[in-house]
Amino acid sequence: MQYPAPIAKLINSFTKLPGIGSKTAARLAFYVLDMPERDVLEFAQNLINVKRELTYCSVCGNITDSDPCPICQDPGRSHKEILVVEDARDVMSMERMQEYNGLYHVLHGVLSPMEGTGPDDLNIASLIKRLEDPTIEEVIIATNATAEGEATAMYLARLIKPAGIKVTRLAHGLAVGSDIEYADEMTLYRAIEGRREL
Ligand SMILES: [Zn+2]
Repeated sequence: MQYPAPIAKLINSFTKLPGIGSKTAARLAFYVLDMPERDVLEFAQNLINVKRELTYCSVCGNITDSDPCPICQDPGRSHKEILVVEDARDVMSMERMQEYNGLYHVLHGVLSPMEGTGPDDLNIASLIKRLEDPTIEEVIIATNATAEGEATAMYLARLIKPAGIKVTRLAHGLAVGSDIEYADEMTLYRAIEGRREL
């Protein structure tokens, strides 16, 4: 027996989410069927809003609902350091730690020859442009401790150092292969305190 079209379509939508197989998708779809209508409308609206109301900061590439983002605009933060991360979730992790008071730059990925991701596919040109600001003294590279993250850090260091700006890399209290996003606050704190110059 086939599902009626509306539920089949909803199941299909759920399977587009990461980690959701067809069984789970069917369970979720039937769950939605039993939800109060106002909850379903709110859920649908939230899905739309996250796409419509959020954009990428034109300065740092972080997700934001105002451009430039609140971090870039904050006069209370140090504008001498830029901490470079792979994606916006890493910014959230760093902010939770409440130890770092500089600026960010979000690359939206890492260099990966295997997946065909080169420098032009990442948010690198705008980083180099930001470094023309003489206020910037240090770039802290906080890509993940993976092979791609390391290669990206080395690439950026070679690119930035000729400009006479200090380039540092987070210390590896972070385990090899680990994601910044999932690191606990103490590990992140040690990683940033123990950063080394590249
Ligand atoms: Zn920003």
